[in-house]
Formats: sequence, structure tokens, C-alpha cells
Amino acid sequence: MSDGHGHDHAHDDETADDVRPRVRALQSLLIEKGFVSTDAIDEVIASYEHDVGPMNGARVVARAWTDPAFKRQLLEDADAALEAFDFDVGVQHIDVKENTDAVHNAVVCTLCSCYPWSLLGLPPTWYKTPAYRSRMVREPRAVLSEFGLDLDAETDVNVWDSSSEIRYMVLPQRPSGTEDLDGDELAALVTRNAMIGVERLPRTASDGGVTEPGQFGDPGASLSELTGEERPTFEAPWQARGFAVAVALYDDGAGFEWSAFQERLIDAVEATAPSAYADDAETTYYEQWCEALERLVVERDVLDTDAIDERAAEFAAGDRTAEEFVEGFRGH
Ligand code: FE
Repeated sequence: MSDGHGHDHAHDDETADDVRPRVRALQSLLIEKGFVSTDAIDEVIASYEHDVGPMNGARVVARAWTDPAFKRQLLEDADAALEAFDFDVGVQHIDVKENTDAVHNAVVCTLCSCYPWSLLGLPPTWYKTPAYRSRMVREPRAVLSEFGLDLDAETDVNVWDSSSEIRYMVLPQRPSGTEDLDGDELAALVTRNAMIGVERLPRTASDGGVTEPGQFGDPGASLSELTGEERPTFEAPWQARGFAVAVALYDDGAGFEWSAFQERLIDAVEATAPSAYADDAETTYYEQWCEALERLVVERDVLDTDAIDERAAEFAAGDRTAEEFVEGFRGH
């Protein structure tokens, strides 16, 4: 396929042929109308590709492991505690849930894909699938077991359902035998999946060679039916563009509340048959995202459907080049 990512399912191509010009049309019309700028879109993409990721959360966890006052504040008022860090937490509230011997916490968004972006980056594909969203609430132990985490019957499991208002992160337990490690070394032990709560870090150094960062978070330890290789942040430019336009619309203070976008995303997710994810879950997800974006701007009378159709047709026919092509996108 033309964007050179090396997997060419028919579904992928057909969908992308449909969606690509439409996303370009949305972006170009919104730029013309002054609702978003090319710079803002570029910035969103660059930040998610390069700066925002699970390392932010890992640094927070390492600090909590070594600084009891910080940990107390983190658990009581994460928004305030996170001000000590140099990354932008965004406007969603963060709530951190601590794992103990007696309690295991895990995070889900049952309706769509809410996730603590500023701490963990964008969610993995499986997090966005209907199987994880519904089963994690219904049968968390079974799902955790598919991730390779078998909890004792005595351990309580709390599953936290994220929303547009509150994004949860799990504070994993510190492995013992790590007393001599510094903050960076501790952060290197923390995995994304442990902060989502679908795995636990080894309990002791002897359990898993805690001094060798990198051996945790085996990417194979994911929902068996959904196992996929680790992916780049965005698989295709249109996905990056659709994502970034929605975020930039909201960040730029153009008067859009995130919840307005999210409601439409939830509608789009609900209208999607679970089988649609089987072929290419990322494509399906970003299709929903772009559909929500279009519905938002149409329903708010920012753009009308005819203008979007017309502009999309121009892009599809090659009559209009993507002059607003997002710079700096990986490999393009
Ligand atoms: Fe959500």
C-alpha cells in the first residue's frame, strides 16, 4: 500500500481510501477557517511521536517509590503532585491507584479509549478493543490471566473505568532488592502494562533479575486473542492527522470541550460491530475517531457536509494536493 507500512489487508486499503481524503478535507477546511493551525497539528503529532509515553509514568512511579511524601500526595491529589514534573498533564484529572499485596488495580475505559495520555502516551491497540473494554469489567481475573497475571483468590481486584474527566494510572509495587537503584534505574523497571494494571512487576530481585531492565513487559504477555507486535504511535499519516486535528481543536481554545468530542466517539464506537476490529483494530478505531470529529464540527455548524464532501472529492481525485501535509511524520 502506498504509505509503505507493509501490511496490505484489503480492508485497510479500502478504508484508508475512503477516510484519507475525508481527513484531509476536514483538516484543510478547519485550517482555512482558522479553527486549527498547521503548527498546532504538527506539534500534537510530534509530541505524541517523540515526547509523550510511558516513560513519564515510570518516572512518577520511581519518585513515589523513593519519596513517601510525594507518594502520599500522588495518591491524594495526583494533579497537584504531578506539577513537580516537566511534562504537561493536560486538563483531565489524574487519579493514581496503589497496588498492595491485598489489592490489585487495573484500568479500562468501557465506552471508548480514555487513558492517561500524559503519563502513558497513547493506549495500545488491545486497550481500545471491545473484548478488553467489556471483559475487563465482567471477568477481570480471566482477562488478567490471559495477560499472564494469575492473582490469588485473596487479592481484591479493583477495575477503574476511565472517563473524559478522570484518567487512572496504577502505582505498581516496588520490587524488593532494588534499594540501591537510583531514580532512573527504578523507572527503567516500570512497564506500561504494570501502570495499566494488566501485569505486576516481579516481587523480588531474585524473581526476575530486577537489575536487568527490559526483561519485564514481555510484549507477548497480552490478551491472547489480540496479541500484536508493538506498534509505532500512529500506523498511517491519516490516523495521526485525524487524531491531531481533534486534539488541536480542543487545545487551541476554539471552544470545543473534550466531552463533546468524546460523546460522539462513544456513539461511533457503539455503532461498530465487534467483528470490525478483527481485521485491523487501529484502522477501525481511527475511523471512529474521524467520524466523531466530522460529526462534531458539522453539528456545531463549523463545517457543512457538502463542503467536506466536495473537498474530499478534490483530494481523492488528486485535484488538490495535501499542501497542509503534516511535516515530520515518521517516514514521510
Ligand atoms: Fe474513553
